[in-house]
Amino acid sequence: MLMDYEKRMRRIPTCLECGDKIRYGRTDKKFCCDDCRMKYNNNIHKEVRTYRRKVMSMLARNYEILSGLVGTGLDSADLQDLELKGFYPGIVTSYRRIGKHDVFCCFDIKYIMTRTRIYSVMKIKNFQ
Ligand SMILES: [Zn+2]
Repeated sequence: MLMDYEKRMRRIPTCLECGDKIRYGRTDKKFCCDDCRMKYNNNIHKEVRTYRRKVMSMLARNYEILSGLVGTGLDSADLQDLELKGFYPGIVTSYRRIGKHDVFCCFDIKYIMTRTRIYSVMKIKNFQ
């Protein structure tokens, strides 16, 4: 008798937002009410927006730093120095292995990066 009761209780879904049991409606309902559904979805979108903003500002910082290296005649820069200036080596818009070089891009600026240095920093011509 008690086991049947427990089984039945386990099948009652709980609201993804507030954790309340969802006693009415379809068994695949995820929220107890519209308020909870909206709150939950808004929070997910907020996280995505926050993440996207963070990555975009890191890319902007990288772009600023790389722009400062384009055309200066400085063929190479120490990665640690760049990191001290706020460069994020792991944040790139593309990566390709060309021959024995790791070629990265930050939008229309391309560069080769090793564990310790970046070099051959240049603007890509006719970038679309
Ligand atoms: Zn709820």
